[in-house]
Amino acid sequence: MLIREAITRMAGYVPGFQPDDSESWIKLNTNENPYPPSPLVVEAIQREIGKQGASLRTYPSASSQALRDVAAELYGFDPRWVIMANGSDEVLNNLIRATTREGEDVGYLHPSYSYYSTLASVQGATVTTFSLDENLDLVDFPDRYTGRIFFLTCPNSPLGYRLPREQIESLVCRCDGLFVIDEAYADFSDENALELVKKYPHVVVTRTLSKSYALAGMRLGLAIAHPVVIEALDKIRDHYNLDRLAQAACVAALQDQDYFQKQRNIIVATREEVRARLTLLGYRVLPSAGNFLFVIPSDNNGQRVYQGLYDARILVRHFRDPALAHGVRISIGTVQEMESTVAVMSRLV
Ligand code: PMP
Repeated sequence: MLIREAITRMAGYVPGFQPDDSESWIKLNTNENPYPPSPLVVEAIQREIGKQGASLRTYPSASSQALRDVAAELYGFDPRWVIMANGSDEVLNNLIRATTREGEDVGYLHPSYSYYSTLASVQGATVTTFSLDENLDLVDFPDRYTGRIFFLTCPNSPLGYRLPREQIESLVCRCDGLFVIDEAYADFSDENALELVKKYPHVVVTRTLSKSYALAGMRLGLAIAHPVVIEALDKIRDHYNLDRLAQAACVAALQDQDYFQKQRNIIVATREEVRARLTLLGYRVLPSAGNFLFVIPSDNNGQRVYQGLYDARILVRHFRDPALAHGVRISIGTVQEMESTVAVMSRLV
């Protein structure tokens, strides 16, 4: 057999739909930022390209050191505790590759980010998922989880909740392997788990610039962890994992905190406004610490709401998974986009 059996058997990850004619849609299905990145990012990219693209001829910095320094300062760590990645997906992948052999276990809460399962399949690893009840209490988490790595999506996507800090810490203390807190959406929340990285050597926090910094198209993410973990990740990544333009964009984006805070605050305010309005219309809308809302219609038929919005050229996310099929996940768009969305949804309750 040419291909490893684990790969032949697995299904590939299916990302959210990216229409070719995205200009003619209101696109609220992949939690992108509806606003452009900082103007300083565009300037930095243009400067990096230079005259006639001269700089593109040579390889970029292999270590991405300038980015590490800026990120480390922003998050309050020594740069040895930070690694940059080609999207946080890359670092999630490398965390599994660094820790988990064929037949060993990868754990996470269900529902959350199903890409962890795809990555585990590539390794030929087994997957164990655990659940929460309506009150966000753990239902079946063991006294000790002995798998090699556990992923906590926090804030959770697609449901939007954020576990209280004490609950996260109690989970951390019950895991033998690496404990990864996937903070892709943490910038839209009032809290984060960075303190736990300082306290526990087996805790890793991952972040992305795709959502809060409006740079999904540049593929930029990072991990913060004890230097022992960072050194391992450094060995197994592609040596030129971040291209020149991404590196320039990253530094400019992280440095322009005024722009970042302003856009982030608009999205959070829009989220709360939309949540209140949809609730008044009769939807059940879960509280969210991310840049999206999980919205449940009165007949628990998420597919019907998805289709009604699709017919009005508004793209949201419906998951077939039985734990999620009763609702839709709606990314927070511009104020205007959300006006149109709420107007269509008033006819779909
Ligand atoms: N984690 C979660 C929970 C996500 O929703 C996403 C985006 N799909 C990612 C990680 C990956 O983000 P990126 O690779 O764009 O940094």
